[in-house]
Amino acid sequence: MFESYIKEMVETRRALHRRPELGWTEFETTWYVCSHLEKWGIPFLLGTQVINPKFVMGRDEKAVKDAIDRAKKHGVPADFIEKTEGYTGAAAIIETGRPGPVTALRCDMDALPVRESDSPDHLPAKLGFASDRPGLMHACGHDGHTAVGLEVARWIHEHKEEFCGTIKILFQPAEEGVRGGLPMSESGIVDDVDWLLGSHVGGVLHSGEVCVQDDGFMASTKFDIEFTGQEAHAGSDPQKGHSALVAAACATMMLQGIPRHREGETRVSVGKLVAGEGRNIVAAHALMQMEVRGGTQAVNDFMVDNVNRIIEAVETAYQVKAKITRVGETSTLVVCPPLLDKVEEAMRAVPGIKILPRYHGADGSEDCSWLIRKVASHGGQAGFFLYGCEQKGHHRPDFEIQDETNLPVAFKIFLSFVKLINQRH
Ligand SMILES: [Zn+2]
Repeated sequence: MFESYIKEMVETRRALHRRPELGWTEFETTWYVCSHLEKWGIPFLLGTQVINPKFVMGRDEKAVKDAIDRAKKHGVPADFIEKTEGYTGAAAIIETGRPGPVTALRCDMDALPVRESDSPDHLPAKLGFASDRPGLMHACGHDGHTAVGLEVARWIHEHKEEFCGTIKILFQPAEEGVRGGLPMSESGIVDDVDWLLGSHVGGVLHSGEVCVQDDGFMASTKFDIEFTGQEAHAGSDPQKGHSALVAAACATMMLQGIPRHREGETRVSVGKLVAGEGRNIVAAHALMQMEVRGGTQAVNDFMVDNVNRIIEAVETAYQVKAKITRVGETSTLVVCPPLLDKVEEAMRAVPGIKILPRYHGADGSEDCSWLIRKVASHGGQAGFFLYGCEQKGHHRPDFEIQDETNLPVAFKIFLSFVKLINQRH
């Protein structure tokens, strides 16, 4: 009975896989989602209706402008772009017209700056749906998440008579770098939500394995740090220069040396450092992209304090100026046990899957935590589940999710969950 949905879900996933877009530039993806919702007669909100610009971090105006030009060239109508007011993201709103709970299902849409493998062993290359945007790739499975969300919306809409209340499907932009969750949670879209469920493919789970998550989202803060020094002739006047390159290099070593913390996991990563003008010029500019994480909010705050102190010290020591910009932020998972029970009940109704014990490994960060927090803060129930695939690691050129096998698992769990919560009486 799900055949046509699953067929279309795989087609969607592959179409999206071919056109990966980085966070805040997902105009083609948002159009793909909204044009399908429109075709099916499902009402939706988009752009600033689901994103509060005041809470947006890590959004580059020029990249957005370029993305809009590119999207228009690829056939996205200008009046649609206008409606977004420059912000990607959407939400399908299915109102049954009968009183009942408001349920939100959340998926994310963005890709990564990873060059996709062209090896014939890599399924997208083999089957001809690899990224046609060199250097960009859906290397975390968010293409699959969007495809699942879209078909879940269609199925619920086409079976609306079976339900009560309201069901919203959220298509969140900019999950990578944890940028989109907070502005979506502050847009009002989940203010009336009683139940919210998010999910992710992959992680430590294999195909057919599923579980709910009852901890393990790390709090995290992402920084861009811009160092400005003073140019000088490296041979004749080195004493007149202040090297931003040396300052940034020193900061890198010091940052990696922030102590661990007994109260929780910590992470620190300087992932990108670009510096210098040329061989014989004292370097006046350096740009660093770095992040910290903590197993608790307090531990993450400790990491952030250390970053600020180190950068300040380096400014003094090397007589440079450093501008610190927060470009992303997320918090830990608020756990709602009644929701986890419900999701596991929903999973038990799906044949052919293996439900693993609740998972709480500190594997990374996920900005769905903001949406979960928001719903929990007004007394709602919210949480997150995982479903497996076979892969050698996320964010790699050979990441693959085996869409035909694994996406139907998430699709069925979401539907089973909605049937539990919004069943018409
Ligand atoms: Zn991801």
